[in-house]
Amino acid sequence: MVLYGDYHTHTIYSGKKFHIKHAKGTILENAFAAKQKGLKEIAITEHGFNHRLYGTKRSYLKRMREEIELAKQKTGINILLGIEANIISSDGDVDLTEEDIKNLDFIIVGFHVNARPSKFLEFFKFFLPNILGFKRQKDIKRNTLALMKAMDKYPIDLISHPGVKMPVDFKYIGEHAKKTETHLELNGKRIAYTPKDVEILKKLNVKFMINSDAHSPARVGECNKGTNFAIRYNIPSENISNMGKRPKFKKEM
Ligand SMILES: [Zn+2]
Ligand SMILES: [Zn+2]
Repeated sequence: MVLYGDYHTHTIYSGKKFHIKHAKGTILENAFAAKQKGLKEIAITEHGFNHRLYGTKRSYLKRMREEIELAKQKTGINILLGIEANIISSDGDVDLTEEDIKNLDFIIVGFHVNARPSKFLEFFKFFLPNILGFKRQKDIKRNTLALMKAMDKYPIDLISHPGVKMPVDFKYIGEHAKKTETHLELNGKRIAYTPKDVEILKKLNVKFMINSDAHSPARVGECNKGTNFAIRYNIPSENISNMGKRPKFKKEM
């Protein structure tokens, strides 16, 4: 199985505003690594602005775009500027403005425990139960509704590592992902679907993307975890949007 592109990679711009080296490579280094792995395309997707430790800064986007243009010329592969935005409330709010959405090529949304909530109360309502690892019925319901609302409110292309640290009901998430044409990720590091979830998602004909979530150039295109999972659970390759072909992004539709 050959991947067309790796659509979830981080560079030194994740955490840069706090001088934290969360990820190792530069945009150019990630692009070179992708080319060496035989990929046609790569996306740079830093942690969203509300991430307290590893978030990137809005003001970096312009610089990143310039670096992307240079790296495209130097490597000859296509590079997209995305972001791994954070879901920040039980109401499905995400740390993106309309202006941000205009400036980005595509949108990933994921749940990260270190993101700053939309409102102070949302910390107790939405973040804390997930930080504490609660998986009660009401937690699953709250998380599921939050993610469904996010898919309604924003043009999300991909949910990163669904279910990780934020348990959801994949019957509803799958239906809604299908309806809103949102991809679910087979993440290179963390996959939370149970065998039962996968059966549900396959029946619903949900579209997946396999990505590395690389935090260093050496890990770009390293998607074995996702491809092995797809093979093991017989996920048809036509349901993996970056397998042998280029996915459709909402911006381009
Ligand atoms: Zn993530
Ligand atoms: Zn990531």
